[in-house]
Amino acid sequence: MKKLFKDKTIVFLLPLVIITFLFLYICYNYSMGIYKNIEEKQNNKDIKNFIYTLNISTHKSNIKEKSYYQEVKKLCENYFEECLVKTTINSKKINAEKITIDTYHLNLFLINDFHFFDTKNKLILHIKSKSKENIIITSRNSIQIFSSLSIIFLILTIIITNSYQKHILIANDSLEEKVNERTSQITHTLKELEKVNLRLFDLAHTDYLTQIKNRRSFFLHVESMFQNQKKVNKPMSIIMIDIDNFKKFNDTYGHEMGDKVLKLFASTINNYLSEDTIFGRLGGEEFIIALPNEKIDSTIAIAEDIRRIIETLVIRVPYSELFITASFGVSDSTNANTIDEIIKNADDMLYDAKSKGKNRVRGRIS
Ligand code: GH3
Ligand code: MG
Ligand code: MG
Repeated sequence: MKKLFKDKTIVFLLPLVIITFLFLYICYNYSMGIYKNIEEKQNNKDIKNFIYTLNISTHKSNIKEKSYYQEVKKLCENYFEECLVKTTINSKKINAEKITIDTYHLNLFLINDFHFFDTKNKLILHIKSKSKENIIITSRNSIQIFSSLSIIFLILTIIITNSYQKHILIANDSLEEKVNERTSQITHTLKELEKVNLRLFDLAHTDYLTQIKNRRSFFLHVESMFQNQKKVNKPMSIIMIDIDNFKKFNDTYGHEMGDKVLKLFASTINNYLSEDTIFGRLGGEEFIIALPNEKIDSTIAIAEDIRRIIETLVIRVPYSELFITASFGVSDSTNANTIDEIIKNADDMLYDAKSKGKNRVRGRIS
């Protein structure tokens, strides 16, 4: 029972059963009413005809007085199934002043009670007719058969619906399980895919050796920094860095040692820089820094700081310590229209620093 309530089967079926029974009950009463009416109309017609024929026959001369009683009975039985005749007179002439007719149903019979009175209000003839309520019986039977079939059909429908519902519920449960399983699989795959995507993004935007931004990533970020700074009317600056005599370093200590130096160089500068700066490797031993909210003087000071840090950086090799230097070109956005313009000026300054003897910072307002 609890399960029935839980499944909500009963919630739907109970009103359905009640409504069907109510519907059948109303139909039954309504049709019985109609059939009763038809039956009564037919009976009234029979009464009329019987009275009419009785009137005519009483005036016919060929009716013998003694057989009058049987004659009336015969006449009556022409219209009704069974007739009971009682008379107080023997005359074939009935001068009935008044006739009363009582019609009523008794069990499955329709009874007509005729009372004929003379002028002195004396009962002279009493006829009781009895006929089966044929229409009502047949209609009642057919309605009962129809109702029974409807109820059987309804019960069958309920049973089938219920068992199907159970099957559907079971199927639904297993389907839900499968869907949940698939959903968790998909969610897992999506998470994995997200990780792979992030990794791919990192790979595409990170320099494989130094793990700082590669050339593509730097240019993507620096362009939006330039636009943002322009929007809020604030400056930005660029530092171009190139390690001095790196070819010679590579040739002397090997390419592997060169790689180690590039990594150390990049991480040292990265640790020095604040979060809002963009630091990238342009390629080879060339690096670039973009600094928001900085003008030429403060940027030259920052570049000078970095130059000194690099200069004092100790590269430990077996039995020895090595040192490197780098040259710096600085420019800012004061009069620049594009980021390329600032970078070009910083690059010119770097070239200037190289030509002036390396290991130095050169700067110019764009
Ligand atoms: P300058 O002071 O004028 O900049 O001279 P330089 O030798 O540093 O410049 P040059 O352009 O002549 O040489 C750059 C060298 O950088 C050449 C190459 O051996 C080295 N290099 C470039 N990329 C890498 C790298 O990924 N790893 C290593 N180990 N060396 C690299
Ligand atoms: Mg170079
Ligand atoms: Mg160089």
